Amino acid sequence: MSSAALAPFPTELRVGVPDWLRDAHAAVPERLPTRAERFALVNALAARNIEEGTGGPFAAAVVDEETGDVLSIGVNLVLHSNVSSMHAEVVTLGLAHSRTGSWNLGRDVGHRRVLVVNAQPCVMCLGALLWSGVSALEFAADGSTVERITGFDEGPVPADWRAQLVERGIDVHQEGDTGEEVALERYRDLVESGTTARYNGSGA
Ligand SMILES: [Zn+2]
Repeated sequence: MSSAALAPFPTELRVGVPDWLRDAHAAVPERLPTRAERFALVNALAARNIEEGTGGPFAAAVVDEETGDVLSIGVNLVLHSNVSSMHAEVVTLGLAHSRTGSWNLGRDVGHRRVLVVNAQPCVMCLGALLWSGVSALEFAADGSTVERITGFDEGPVPADWRAQLVERGIDVHQEGDTGEEVALERYRDLVESGTTARYNGSGA
């Protein structure tokens, strides 16, 4: 493409959520106090994201650990937004920042907010969650499992990433039973359906 075909320099970066996700808010309970409920939600959203063609099979939520209040829900919006960094975690953390009116979700000022995601964060999202101020991460599928099944690349995630989070005051929990199984089932469906959304680097 020649430079003459480019639009003028943009003056803002806006990423709206798709209509189906806007509508989905109505069905999300105000509180999700248990991990089982939280993983049921993100797994359902990830599947819907594929059906709707708005991004990869990844979804997340930010929940207040003490009250169970849901601050935000989000999905991978790379295809919807044409922005490569719009992974589920970046979208969902951003929406939580918007809702709270703060760049700090509160790890150092007494708020305990957890990022729930159906797969292990990629190298970019690992950074995003570190800077967000969340106090915990709950995830289901391993990065290596996602890579093996989907062919996505999660990037150069350090082998000791869990220890690195814990060292910074962020608890890490991997949902071993239903959460991971459901997540993996979605990925298998996706691969078998032949509709795998592919984009640079891919990842959650
Ligand atoms: Zn990511």
